[in-house]
Amino acid sequence: MESQRFKAVNNVQERQPITIDEQQRRSTYFATNVFGDFNMQQYLTYDALNAVRAAIFEGTKISRKIADQVAEGMKTWAIEKGATHYTHWFQPLTGSTAEKHEAFFDLQPNGQAIEIFGGSQLVQQESDASSFPSGGIRNTFEARGFTAWDPSSPAFIYGNTLCIPTIFVSYTGEALDNKAPLLKALHAIDEAATDVSNYFDKSVAKVNATLGWEQEYFLIDKQLANSRVDISLSGRTLVGTAPAKGQQLDDHYFGVIHSRVLSFMKELEQECIKLGIPIKTRHNEVAPSQFEIAPKYQEANLSVDHNLLLMDLMEKIADKHQFKVLFHDKPFKGLSGSGKHNNWSLLTDTGTNLLSPGSTPTKNLQFLTFFINTIMAVDTYEEVIRASLSSYSNDLRLGNQGAPSKIFSVFVGAQLASVLDDLEGVSTGKLSPEEKTELKLNVVGKIPEILMDNTDRNRTSPFAFTGNKFEIRGVGAKANCAQAMTVLNTVVAHQLKAFKKEVDQLIDKKGLKKDEAIFNVLREYIKKSKRIRFDGDSYSDQWFKEAEKRKLYSFKNNVEAIGVYADPKVIDLFEKVHVFTATELKARQEVALKSYVINAQIEAKALIEMVNTQIIPAALSYLGSLSSSVVNINQALSNSKSNYSTDMVRSIDNQVSELKSLTDQLIEAVSASESKESLDQNAKLSSETVVPLMDAVRIQADALELVVADQLWPITKYRELLYIK
Ligand code: ADP
Ligand code: MG
Repeated sequence: MESQRFKAVNNVQERQPITIDEQQRRSTYFATNVFGDFNMQQYLTYDALNAVRAAIFEGTKISRKIADQVAEGMKTWAIEKGATHYTHWFQPLTGSTAEKHEAFFDLQPNGQAIEIFGGSQLVQQESDASSFPSGGIRNTFEARGFTAWDPSSPAFIYGNTLCIPTIFVSYTGEALDNKAPLLKALHAIDEAATDVSNYFDKSVAKVNATLGWEQEYFLIDKQLANSRVDISLSGRTLVGTAPAKGQQLDDHYFGVIHSRVLSFMKELEQECIKLGIPIKTRHNEVAPSQFEIAPKYQEANLSVDHNLLLMDLMEKIADKHQFKVLFHDKPFKGLSGSGKHNNWSLLTDTGTNLLSPGSTPTKNLQFLTFFINTIMAVDTYEEVIRASLSSYSNDLRLGNQGAPSKIFSVFVGAQLASVLDDLEGVSTGKLSPEEKTELKLNVVGKIPEILMDNTDRNRTSPFAFTGNKFEIRGVGAKANCAQAMTVLNTVVAHQLKAFKKEVDQLIDKKGLKKDEAIFNVLREYIKKSKRIRFDGDSYSDQWFKEAEKRKLYSFKNNVEAIGVYADPKVIDLFEKVHVFTATELKARQEVALKSYVINAQIEAKALIEMVNTQIIPAALSYLGSLSSSVVNINQALSNSKSNYSTDMVRSIDNQVSELKSLTDQLIEAVSASESKESLDQNAKLSSETVVPLMDAVRIQADALELVVADQLWPITKYRELLYIK
């Protein structure tokens, strides 16, 4: 039996040769470089096509015989399109993607040259992965791991290479990547959400989590970016003062896009469309030289792959256009950082968005069920979600200049808050006919199909409901969305399972009707999860005090936040939902700590180099010429009473001396943070001494930038970097 979802993609059209000009309609060349359903229909046998479809929709396994057939079709298609190589494309814990190209070309024993690619190459590849982070799961003596085909994300041609999305696991079965746990979390949410949606619609057989990210980034002239040690080594500025004109006038946001930037965007979007990344939105962001690109949402696993591919494309195309693209979460002090809002919802195979209010009371009760369960899940596990957003670089961004607060909370908007308040007042147990009518008409019936006031104007809420989806705003621009998506889908899956159990118990044991049981459980959830709801200004002192009262987590930094992975409550959660084992969690924590320590070291060393070889020499040279000027001035004006020039010399001399002393302290702190035996200790030292000292050094360095003669200052300034010519 074919299920409904197969229908939309079944009509084969004629293949057209592709030549793209600027004006060509995007729908005509969408996904032409992707071995998706459209191309599979033309290159796969009927059996192979159906096996891949079943693998995508039902998670069934593909036999070796069928895999051979798929590989054959894929190879023919790829070679026709000019591919010479293939690679398993995977997401190790470095944060980016990895690939190792193999030529299709091979020699037979008789010396005959052929192009070869079979099921075994498609399905699994051994990978000496000793150099990828594993958090101690694998040591270099047992450095074997393998990559395995993920048929739910289609292969694509990138350059001249056929890329096959894969998971990356160790021979003992532990995940070494970001995709494997995501797929497990997506499977869990599918099961849990399908069960719950069957209360409202028996025909639902599958629920997909959807993700629509909004990628923010800076574009900086390549030559200028490369002139700076810090941008070259760490992708952000370690010194530099905001220009007199920064983002105060809000004149960049949604402004006219500079022609040089627009030509970059056009080429980028064309390449995205060919690769099946459905780009829809582009605009200037708040800070000068900051922009955003966003697609139409897709199934979460595919959408994560698309985001990673996009970031790679952006770097390559920016380079062609003489730009450097910065994905760093906070590249410029005093200006907005870059984030990657993750818009998330749940979509059934019958086409219903479970987080969208509908036109009937049943649809609205379904909406409320998923809406309230999500809030409840976030309330129970706020610390895990917060930890999934946390990184060395995102520490710099969260909580300032328009970024979401470091404290996690949920924005629901006034309309829905009032619905929740009403629902909370519903009496317990069985409902009288009058109560039922009242509930249907005045509570559930009150939810408008379009939620008008659901725009969170101050945008600082970390997790906001925006009409028909939740938006995680804390994800950093350079993060892999898989991390936040894995955690969110895990906690909601766990919550929905608990909900189902409670409702069924009320039906079975207390004899309540289904709707009554659902109302009863939801009402309790509304009460319990109130603490996480907050619609006000999350930067205000009042909120900090209130959050403390509510016992919400307030992690100072990444090192503190990832400590939650060792909490038995958290280990239990991930084990129950079958997303991570305790070993895998421990490994992830270790990888994150190591990454923190290494990032801090790289940045501190780059900063020390800049101070010692650029800033102090420039300041001394200015001081030297200033001192000679003072001597000359005093000679020329022997009876002058004014001593501003000697004051200037003295003041700059003091500043340099302070800078030197702080830099020496930083050098010591770095070597202390390298020398400890334990990673925990190194991470603690990095966060408590290295990072704060870097800030202190920067304050002195930036003060000097404002007094040393412009012509002597050796580092490209913010105003030169940020205004595209
Ligand atoms: P904003 O005001 O935040 O810019 P938009 O409506 O423009 O909001 O949507 C931004 C992002 O939200 C886009 O990437 C879009 O695809 C995504 N989005 C919209 N609906 C959904 C959904 N149901 N599930 C997941 N993402 C969605
Ligand atoms: Mg948004």
